[in-house]
Amino acid sequence: MTKGRQAEKVEEWENAKVRIRVVPRYCKGCEICVKLCPVRALGMERFKSKVADIDKCILCMQCEMRCPDFAISVERKEEAP
Ligand code: SF4
Ligand code: SF4
Repeated sequence: MTKGRQAEKVEEWENAKVRIRVVPRYCKGCEICVKLCPVRALGMERFKSKVADIDKCILCMQCEMRCPDFAISVERKEEAP
């Protein structure tokens, strides 16, 4: 019996400038991203990374680059016209 591919659960936050995604299954709760974020935009909830305040994000990409498990990604959105 073959098992169908299950869609990965993704938590997502966004505003007009940025979209941040966390895949909870990949996140091991090391808090590296939370500690590295220079503007404290991230936080922890039940040992998983989450966005506490997306409007603080300055798109420095530190969280995405330094997460050892590729659990968090940051995407710059096109500026609204
Ligand atoms: S650095 Fe990655 S694995 Fe560690 S808490 Fe952040 S998202 Fe989770
Ligand atoms: S991109 Fe930079 S400012 Fe935005 S959440 Fe990640 S570490 Fe914080």
